[in-house]
Amino acid sequence: MVSDNPFAEQINPFASPESTVQTRKEKSGEYVIVAKRIHGGKVITLPYLCIRCGEKVSEEKGIAYRMEKKLSWIHPATLLLILVAWPIFLLVALLVRKKCSVTYSICPECKARRRWLWLYFALLLVSVACLIMLAITFETPWPMLGVLGAVIGLAVVLSKINSVLLIAWYSKEIFQLKGAGPAFLERAQSVQSQEPYYTAVLAEDGRTA
Ligand SMILES: [Zn+2]
Repeated sequence: MVSDNPFAEQINPFASPESTVQTRKEKSGEYVIVAKRIHGGKVITLPYLCIRCGEKVSEEKGIAYRMEKKLSWIHPATLLLILVAWPIFLLVALLVRKKCSVTYSICPECKARRRWLWLYFALLLVSVACLIMLAITFETPWPMLGVLGAVIGLAVVLSKINSVLLIAWYSKEIFQLKGAGPAFLERAQSVQSQEPYYTAVLAEDGRTA
């Protein structure tokens, strides 16, 4: 069977027997960038470049700005089960979900910007509580319009906070991640072509040389 999955185990009929044993092993953490998406296996380790702006994040300072994100994915068609019965959906979703973990860096500036988003989130939450109190105290429905606006605001802020690296698609044991900045993608791609460690995965016959 021919597989187009560069992360899957491959058998090359032309390779010498001793090389197939070594090279068919998938290296944990590898990734490739295809059409602005990061493709990788269950464990993806990205270079020390800010995921947002692409700036180099020094490896010494790295611990504070190195993040690990656990992601899980279910096929969108599974969502149709909610219409049938949500307990079945929950069970199936838990059984079929695909999990991956990605390690990335974020620069101090971009991290600070994210902290502001959390502040907006907290402020919106407080305003929702205040508006509900107003509505109850004065027995008027009008503050609920404000609540509606704040809830929409909360959803927007939350999606912005969570927009760093999401699974866009999964197929044949490859996770496709979106949500990395354009500058990151460009630089990460050049890191790939410089380091044989990252390009090894591209070898069609599965050889790491
Ligand atoms: Zn940055």
